[in-house]
Amino acid sequence: MQAQYDVVVIGAGVVGAATARELARFDLRILVLEAGLDLACGATRANSGIVHAGYDPLPGTLKAKYNVAGSALFEQWQRELGFGFYRNGALVLAFDEGERQTLDELARRAVANGVKGVCIVEADELRAMEPNVSPDAIAALSVPTSGICDPYGLTYGAAENAASNGVEFEFDARVVGISRDADGFVVTAGDGRGIAARAVVNCAGVHADEMNNLVSERKIHIRPVKGEYLLYHNAFAGTFRRSVFQAPSAAGKGVLVSPVIFGNIFVGPNATPVEDKADLTTSEEGQREVLERSRRTWPEATTEQVIATYAGLRAKDASGADDFVVGEAPDAPGFFNAACIDSPGLTCAPAIATDLARMVAERLGAKENASFDPVRIPAPLLAMMDEASVRELVDQNPLYGVPVCKCCHVSEGELVDALRRALPVRSLDALKWRTGATMGPCHGGRCTARILQIMERELGVAAPDVQKRFCGSSLVVDKCADEQRSEQLVPHAKRCGELARQARADLDERGMREIGWGALDIVGTRPAGVCSCLLALGLFGTTGCLPGRKAVVWGTHDLALRTTLELADAGVCIERVVEAGDEPVGSPELVHELGQRGIPLQCGTRVERVDGASRLGSVTLACDGASETLTCDLLIASPQIVAE
Ligand SMILES: Cc1cc2nc3c(=O)[nH]c(=O)nc-3n(C[C@H](O)[C@H](O)[C@H](O)COP(=O)(O)OP(=O)(O)OC[C@H]3O[C@@H](n4cnc5c(N)ncnc54)[C@H](O)[C@@H]3O)c2cc1C
Repeated sequence: MQAQYDVVVIGAGVVGAATARELARFDLRILVLEAGLDLACGATRANSGIVHAGYDPLPGTLKAKYNVAGSALFEQWQRELGFGFYRNGALVLAFDEGERQTLDELARRAVANGVKGVCIVEADELRAMEPNVSPDAIAALSVPTSGICDPYGLTYGAAENAASNGVEFEFDARVVGISRDADGFVVTAGDGRGIAARAVVNCAGVHADEMNNLVSERKIHIRPVKGEYLLYHNAFAGTFRRSVFQAPSAAGKGVLVSPVIFGNIFVGPNATPVEDKADLTTSEEGQREVLERSRRTWPEATTEQVIATYAGLRAKDASGADDFVVGEAPDAPGFFNAACIDSPGLTCAPAIATDLARMVAERLGAKENASFDPVRIPAPLLAMMDEASVRELVDQNPLYGVPVCKCCHVSEGELVDALRRALPVRSLDALKWRTGATMGPCHGGRCTARILQIMERELGVAAPDVQKRFCGSSLVVDKCADEQRSEQLVPHAKRCGELARQARADLDERGMREIGWGALDIVGTRPAGVCSCLLALGLFGTTGCLPGRKAVVWGTHDLALRTTLELADAGVCIERVVEAGDEPVGSPELVHELGQRGIPLQCGTRVERVDGASRLGSVTLACDGASETLTCDLLIASPQIVAE
């Protein structure tokens, strides 16, 4: 029998999650279908996190209306849902008289849109406000009501609040068809199930055009526009307190430099139209462009201390209309769109959600849900608590006293909390985004294996079935079907586990760590199968499953060479060991051992690119100006051991 709902929401990005939460205020049976394994699998995961004040959109547009109304809701939503947000203020820089006129125009728009407190500041005042801004800036628009937020936190808060008010969520549930019938719609999921709904709300991000075009003759076409970022180590915290934009041009809002809610700063994004709606690759040209353009604002910007690079896709209306499509499709009553939600969609989400929920409730004649509770109690975050409160928690539950992620101070208790809350955790990344674990400079090199063990225990799943981000992105390859071979791996796994423990203790003692792979200036995709030595050894040691079958190793210090030899012993095919310097840096005995085993070692070579949609498929090496691509499913990227 077909499942029956009043409303199906397609997509659990910030707009879908917020809309689900607002719909829960009405007496309706609601289902959210999300294609990914987690919330926020689209633009919501990779954006600038700015809560725009509303000085930029053209007055009279939906963008202007929802921007100002959305921003105004952030304090209330933060109080009710508990996510990171504060109004740090923004500056828009002018570098010449032409750009100063653009600032005047933005100031006029701000007034027309109802944005308060905006004014122009001259060079001296600007420098006093942000001493690290380029001396070439001649003036700036000061926007005190601009803010920054945690986009995932907002989405998670809204979704969890919706779930505790009865909204159902399904992950790994891509909508592939929608048809109309006498009672409304039949929504078809990827597994072939038909789900009946009286109304459908389309919040499918870059895919929202495809959903709309299944039911409406008013066709929409979305052309994604990619934006790349560089995120810096929190050693740069405080370099900029405000979000600093450059005067916008026909090409868009331009590259900005801004603090992130967690204390780091970032530079980005650029704007590159792309055809592929799944293209989240970073590129050498993109990274260079972002860095060069950000230097106009922050002349000291370099690639040093970059801990992560990433890209997001804006859902731009291909017709050139610079506005959102929000509301009921004119020729499909009961089908509601939140389409072409490019920037400032994050800011607008609370207001779009409120409006859409009201429209849907009116269409369905729904009454208010008297038991709706707008307040969500977030799980405790120990890193944000004082010592006495932490001690109290540890007394109640000793797991809060068991550290797991050393970089971000996340305890086993917090991980277990997240695994047991209302919304299911379906991937390692979901746990990472909900708790902050593995987000530090070592990129989870030390703790991911332990986290995997906790997930196995709490969720009752085997390690090879735990996905990193997408389906097919497990961190370890399945134990071989052949039992005997599987048994043979046990002593190797034990040795690797022991080597991981010793190496971790040794690095801790010396105050050192392996460099995180986000800091390695590698472009391409972000598949599973890229590990530090500690992670590769730890994964094998704790799960008994190999971290890959065919590996490239980048690094020749002793730990890298030992890891290579151990994995080779266990049956991993080592395609190549590479070293950026002229000579291997590890001990000659280990290098000799490599030679004895016939494992090729290549100096003067670095990894410049990785590719693979879910799991690593290949790495590209750069040597003497030439590139070579090797097929492999494991990259051990550990070129350096650095100070903590
Ligand atoms: C580079 C960049 C910078 C930005 N900066 C800012 C900013 O600073 N401030 C701001 O306000 N806005 C910003 N934005 C815009 C903002 O991020 C987006 O407008 C907002 O995140 C859109 O949310 P959404 O829920 O509509 O879409 P998404 O976040 O893309 O979510 C759509 C969801 O739908 C799911 N989905 C897709 N197809 C299907 C299907 N067929 N079935 C089921 N599920 C499906 C996807 O998996 C995804 O999880 C930026 C965007 C980008 C890309």
